[in-house]
Amino acid sequence: MSIEKVKENVYAITDGSTRGNVTAYVLPTQIVFVDSGMNIPLIKKFREHIEQETGKKASVLLITHEHGDHVFGNQIFKDCEIITSEFTHEEMIVSKEKNWTPESIEEWKKNAEDPSSLDGLEIVLATKTFADEYEIVDGDVKVIAKRTGGHTEGSSYVYCPNYKVLFAGDNLFNHQFPWGGPPSANPIKWVAAMKEYLSLDVEHYIPGHGQISNEEPLKEFLDYLEKVISLMKEQIAAGKTEEETLEEAEKIEYYPPREGREQWKIATLKKWYEVLTS
Ligand SMILES: [Zn+2]
Repeated sequence: MSIEKVKENVYAITDGSTRGNVTAYVLPTQIVFVDSGMNIPLIKKFREHIEQETGKKASVLLITHEHGDHVFGNQIFKDCEIITSEFTHEEMIVSKEKNWTPESIEEWKKNAEDPSSLDGLEIVLATKTFADEYEIVDGDVKVIAKRTGGHTEGSSYVYCPNYKVLFAGDNLFNHQFPWGGPPSANPIKWVAAMKEYLSLDVEHYIPGHGQISNEEPLKEFLDYLEKVISLMKEQIAAGKTEEETLEEAEKIEYYPPREGREQWKIATLKKWYEVLTS
């Protein structure tokens, strides 16, 4: 694991060791963490390291969305306020009851680089929720969590205008084909979210997966997404079948999904098509 100091008062892990990326915003009197990855011992180390280096304490964990690789480290922040959107909270309750069974956790472990990274996993839910927006103000520093939808209906970004850093969660897969297949994924909301990110004063974008960047990968992804949507709309208007439409959409060039997730592309295009025809 390598802890990156993105800039003064902002830290992140984006090397894949925690699977989903994680971030810490150091405010004047407290530390706000964003997402908790899926490697419990590393998240514990990350928290300890930032607390030690800054002499401040974690107070809040913000969660961008409900997927296991972004929330399985929540137990490290049990003493903090854990905050997420209502949609994400509802999805986590359902997953806790139905999807994250002992058997499925075993599957997650098998797919993790280090299966012991999920030993003692405890699903910890949010302690506070917001509908669309939540703001933390500490002295003259502000951290804003805002729900946009896109990757999932609850997907929210976390932005600090003072530090000019935006954590995008899984609305951004830097230079990788994104996972757009969740049941509540929505390409139209995704476009609006990307445009919103680009309208803000940001120096560093932190994706849910991949490296920290400037705005270039966002523009590339927005361009791709808009091309797919307009092609699909044309095909639908021309009375083409789903099969024909997907075949054309597959030809639009973009980065491949990460290794082992090749099926993401067609599943994502199918989901987007489904949303556009519903
Ligand atoms: Zn996700």
